[in-house]
Amino acid sequence: MNLTPELEIIPISALNQYSYCPRRCYLIHSEGLFSDNVHTLRGTHEHERVDQVLHEIKQGIRIEFALPVWSDKLGLSGRCDVVEFHPDGAIFPVEYKHGKKKKWANDDLQLAAQAVCLQEMKGGEVSSGAIYHIQSKRRRNVAITPELIADVAYHTGIVRELFQQQKLPPPTEQTQRCKGCSMVEACSPDVAKAAQQIALLSKNLYLVEDDFSEPVSISNSTI
Ligand code: SF4
Repeated sequence: MNLTPELEIIPISALNQYSYCPRRCYLIHSEGLFSDNVHTLRGTHEHERVDQVLHEIKQGIRIEFALPVWSDKLGLSGRCDVVEFHPDGAIFPVEYKHGKKKKWANDDLQLAAQAVCLQEMKGGEVSSGAIYHIQSKRRRNVAITPELIADVAYHTGIVRELFQQQKLPPPTEQTQRCKGCSMVEACSPDVAKAAQQIALLSKNLYLVEDDFSEPVSISNSTI
């Protein structure tokens, strides 16, 4: 009998989004919004092309496409764009990204989450994977370090908590991330920040600076 309480399943992509901006993650997953911008549209199209063939064998390496993966231990699930199964037993996930080069660590976290799932499902060690940048046709290898694996567990927990709390996080302080974010319209980061400032000002407006509750004796005071 399985006595482990059922965990709410967290999509692997949510870890990527949370690591980029918690507000983006919440908007996409908890409020069900997903705004396509040029980046996500191109990304979706490129992912579809990867998904068309399910597997092939090249130089003895079995290559699986769009492979569903999950971890019962962490309560994670998602899909790998590509997984290479090498003759020596090595398992190597490859995540396709439309950008030219690495910009944020969130892609590495997503890859590590796939590796964690593959390890649990297949039983072998997944020590590395790669991010394939479609525009530049460059493949960047990523070592699946113990730190990255710990990060996967940490982010899975924190994303689950975010979904349970159902509270929209504030906009990211790293405002340069908003430029390429497809959620910018739904998020309205400038309006949200202005509202935050107004709330803070109004709270501080009534803070008592000095304590005048003790009556001041006129005879002791100097005029
Ligand atoms: S626009 Fe900026 S603050 Fe809003 S979700 Fe995107 S990255 Fe986060």
